[in-house]
Amino acid sequence: MKQNIKAVCFDLDDTLCAYWDASRKALWQALDEAELGVDPQRAFDAWKSVFQTFSKEVKTDRWYERYLVSGEPTRTEHLRRTLRLLDREDERLAKSIAARYAELRNEYLELFPEAKQTLQQLKGRYCMCLITNGPADIQRQEVETLGIKGFFDHILIEGEMKLGKPDAAIFEAARTGCGYEAHEMLFVGNAFEQDVQGAKNAGWHALWLNRVDTQNPGTYPQPDAEITHLFEVCDWLGIERPPGPEPPLPPKHAADNWRR
Ligand SMILES: [Mg+2]
Repeated sequence: MKQNIKAVCFDLDDTLCAYWDASRKALWQALDEAELGVDPQRAFDAWKSVFQTFSKEVKTDRWYERYLVSGEPTRTEHLRRTLRLLDREDERLAKSIAARYAELRNEYLELFPEAKQTLQQLKGRYCMCLITNGPADIQRQEVETLGIKGFFDHILIEGEMKLGKPDAAIFEAARTGCGYEAHEMLFVGNAFEQDVQGAKNAGWHALWLNRVDTQNPGTYPQPDAEITHLFEVCDWLGIERPPGPEPPLPPKHAADNWRR
């Protein structure tokens, strides 16, 4: 057992829950239900194309303050621009698709099969934290929907903290909450820059959960280890895995670079 680790902190989206799968399924259905009269793949591609630029714009002064509080303004703007790309500009439609997308995404959101057992195995042995980027309303809703609040001693949300990963200040806030030294902290997340490099730059240990065969960017700092299944967190810590059969890994899909 790695005696020096006292706290284990997790990312949420695409680490504990399959956010991207829920998002893709919900978006596809919301666009389909809107009967836009265009090929669903074309509508979906338009949304992805808007994402490439808009995801960076969200972090600018024009949007960021509003984004921290609620996902609604940027979600609707994203749909507005998507419809514009499809020559179907329509304010009412943008609002209704955005609302339906949010509703369906929440409905489809699920923990990865091995997440709950892993949290159960770690709870009581370590200080437990969740550090998640995103708007306050969405991330709180996700925690509620997934029923995982009770596993964590501290939940830090970008929207509530007004700062997000990879900012060292959010890792520092979690460390202070747990009351341990940086080298006693472990972070587990899927995003190389935000999660792994953010934690390592804060002096923590970090495991990179790479479920989808994303290529290691090769930049430094590097993770302490790369894993594909949450049970490997127990292996790395040197504690026994959760009892019972090991849940299978979810099917792999193509890696993408626009996940949170
Ligand atoms: Mg993530």
